[in-house]
Amino acid sequence: MITCEKQIKSEYLKNILDMLEKKNSHEAEFIQAVKEVLISIEPVILKHEEEYKKLAVLERMIEPERIISFRVPWVDDNGNVQVNRGYRVQFNGSLGPYKGGLRFHPSVTQSIMKFLAFEQVFKNSLTCLPIGGGKGGSDFDPKGKSDFEIMKFCQSFMNELQKHIGHDIDVPAGDIGVGAREIGYLFGQYRKIKNSYEAGVLTGKGLEYGGSLVRKEATGYGLMYFMREMLKANNITVADKTVTISGSGNVAIYACEKAQEMGAKVVAMSDSSGCIYDAEGIKLDIIKEIKEERRGRIKEYINYVAGAKYFENNSNMPAIYNIKADVILPCATQNDINLSTAKILVNNGVIAIGEGANMPCTNEAVEYFIANKVLIAPGKAANAGGVATSALEMCQNSMRYFWSFNEVDKKLENIMINIFKQCESAADEYGCGCNYVAGANIAGFRKIVKAMKAQGII
Ligand code: NDP
Repeated sequence: MITCEKQIKSEYLKNILDMLEKKNSHEAEFIQAVKEVLISIEPVILKHEEEYKKLAVLERMIEPERIISFRVPWVDDNGNVQVNRGYRVQFNGSLGPYKGGLRFHPSVTQSIMKFLAFEQVFKNSLTCLPIGGGKGGSDFDPKGKSDFEIMKFCQSFMNELQKHIGHDIDVPAGDIGVGAREIGYLFGQYRKIKNSYEAGVLTGKGLEYGGSLVRKEATGYGLMYFMREMLKANNITVADKTVTISGSGNVAIYACEKAQEMGAKVVAMSDSSGCIYDAEGIKLDIIKEIKEERRGRIKEYINYVAGAKYFENNSNMPAIYNIKADVILPCATQNDINLSTAKILVNNGVIAIGEGANMPCTNEAVEYFIANKVLIAPGKAANAGGVATSALEMCQNSMRYFWSFNEVDKKLENIMINIFKQCESAADEYGCGCNYVAGANIAGFRKIVKAMKAQGII
């Protein structure tokens, strides 16, 4: 069962969507993310309409508890003063301290921050760990900056952010443009300002100073654990499937590693310039060297592998989506797959989509996939392995102890299996069949509403 916007029956929901558009008229991504969730949970809303209306559940659910926006001045290597804008959106803390990554990318706006923080609330709820939802970042572009410039930016960013975070308040981590290097500089500045070693204030830290084994691999591995469970529930195996992965950052690289370990053949990966195609299967050690060690461009792959091809993106569609595959893993950024791309993928016989990125498919693309019986592993559920392992990092920091790689990996696998089960049973309960997008939204929503109700009108 898929509800389209035109078919909404609940008057309460119609009014909320109307208000959402009026109040946030310049925030397209935020409106998109909220609509996807609210429309898909209409069966739950209809069941509790009067109560939700009386308690203004949806009004509270879509309004962030707090948005912090601040100036980030820093001095570049030429001695020029640069100014960026920083954000932290603390969306919903009813399940625990706000938790969610920091994104450094020139495309960052308040709308992007709010959509990511809103999605994070549901994702964190699905992990069943005690974490609320938040997100932050800056329109700073790390590309082409020296190490020294990155450090100075991170220090200036933390000078303000430190006023609003803490291991029981808000615990940021990485996202696009924020990896181990940036987390290190951010943590160093926090420690200097506070004169206190609060390891649990940031996650994604280096292993030498409080990081967790498997955190680096967690989002990509988790995505494939979820994909395996989803395919298994539909009598399909991962082994021997062809896979393409958009992106070649943290999530994409470790999704590739786990997919290969499970016996799939990954034939293409990309970055924002274009994609490489290797019919024999991607050699991941080469990708790691180009991307993790040298921070180079994916195009360089063809210099190492005879027979591999490179396709430049054109303005209509990322080149990678022209390549046929059974399983597509969008692991780059939001709105990568729109309706016309979805039609090409369905035409090419795609079986399943695994959203490693947050909101990589537009709402129209998701509806089209579901209508055409393509299985979708929704980002909120399928990429929750990263934040779940961040919560395990917080846990180890509190214990002043660490678990082995296998211990953390096993916990991650069990969390992802449990997340899939929640999506499956919520979808089943509300007659949504294999619509795991609705299943994830319903399962995440119910838990947050319970906690919000218990805590009163705040
Ligand atoms: P990275 O910065 O490590 O990698 C991002 C990748 O996506 C790069 O290959 C980058 O290419 C590509 N990319 C970024 N922006 C664009 C764009 N506008 N158009 C096309 N390609 C783009 O980020 P992550 O791997 O950490 O994050 C990827 C996605 O996964 C994001 O949506 C993030 O929110 C989501 N995610 C990440 C988690 C994590 O643990 N890291 C957890 C859950 C979700 P280029 O180098 O050319 O910019």
